[in-house]
Order: sequence, then C-alpha cells, then structure tokens
Amino acid sequence: MKCEKCNLHLTCKSPCIMGTGNPKAKVMLVGEAPGYDEDKKGVPFVGVAGQLLDFILYKLGIEREDLYITNLIKCRPPNNTLPKASELKEIVESCKPHLMSEIKQVKPKVVVTLGGTATASLTGVRFISKCEGLVLPMEHTKIKTVACYHPAYVLRSPSKESNIARALFKAMTIAGMKLKPKGMETGVFDYEIRG
Ligand code: URA
Repeated sequence: MKCEKCNLHLTCKSPCIMGTGNPKAKVMLVGEAPGYDEDKKGVPFVGVAGQLLDFILYKLGIEREDLYITNLIKCRPPNNTLPKASELKEIVESCKPHLMSEIKQVKPKVVVTLGGTATASLTGVRFISKCEGLVLPMEHTKIKTVACYHPAYVLRSPSKESNIARALFKAMTIAGMKLKPKGMETGVFDYEIRG
C-alpha cells in the first residue's frame, strides 16, 4: 500500500503496514505503531510485544488467526518514538482513514484498543490507567471498544499481564467468541501470570 500523507514513509522500510488475520474477525486489536521488527517484516505485532500478545492469546485458547490485528499508525516512527502532540495529531489524521477502512471491511463486533494512544484516538478517552478494562463507545460509530494496556507496557510491568488477558477475555465474550482459557474450569477467571 502506498501512502505519502505524512513524512513517516520517508524513514521507514515497510510503508503503510496494514493489519493481518481473519478478514471477518469478530474482534479487532488496534495497537499504536509498528516497531523495528514489524517494519522489517511488514507485519504488525511480530516483535517482543507481539510475542507476549501471542502468549496471552494462547493461554486464552485463541489463535492469532481468529482475530484481526492492526495499528493506528501504519508506518514505523523513527527510533520507535512517537513525535510530540501537534505532529502526532497530523500523523494520526493521515493514518486514521486507513484504520477506518479496515474497520469498515472487517466489521468487528468489538475493537480492543491496545495502549493509551489507540484508546484516546478511537474513544476520545485519555489516560489508559483510568479506563483500562472498560467498554467504551468508539467515537462517531456504534462499535464497542474495550480499553486495554499495551503489551509493551506489560514487558515493563509484568503484573499487568492478567489485565490484558482479562480485557481480551471481556472483548471476546462480548463478541460471542468461544474461549477455553486455562484456569476457567471453575467458572472464575483465574489467569496465572508467568513466573
Ligand atoms: N507495538 C504496536 O503498537 N504495534 C506493533 O505492531 C508492535 C508494537
């Protein structure tokens, strides 16, 4: 895909990385922006954050291919660093139509926003720590979103891994997906964090 609406295409290797997964997924995950590994491979969430995400999905009994996984920003920002507010606003305005066209095509029942940037951009609600795990309406649509911590945050704060599992579980349950998470035999969500 070719997009030259902002300057990010000038510095990345894989411009405009669109999502992958089930094109009819009931749940869509939206991250922030591709990093080094994603830029190298042209696929979202294939670096360490993606590996953690895959692990959590595995523990929930869900295949990555059952979902659609994408990003708000489609090109890797230099040094994986998001620019300051005004430039970021311009980039998001350039990228958002690509995300909205993915949402229009996939028609997910629930969108999980991974991290503060995707959550604020899609719901208008800032401060992920205040809304994490909540169902929020996507601005200007009838689509439900579930706000979720970003897996990269869990790499720094491992105790939050179960929050991600819980938010994904909630989103998938609302969307009507059948899950078989380990530890759910008792009917109580009991996600065991890695030792
Ligand atoms: N972080 C993101 O937000 N997206 C990716 O694709 C990888 C890391």
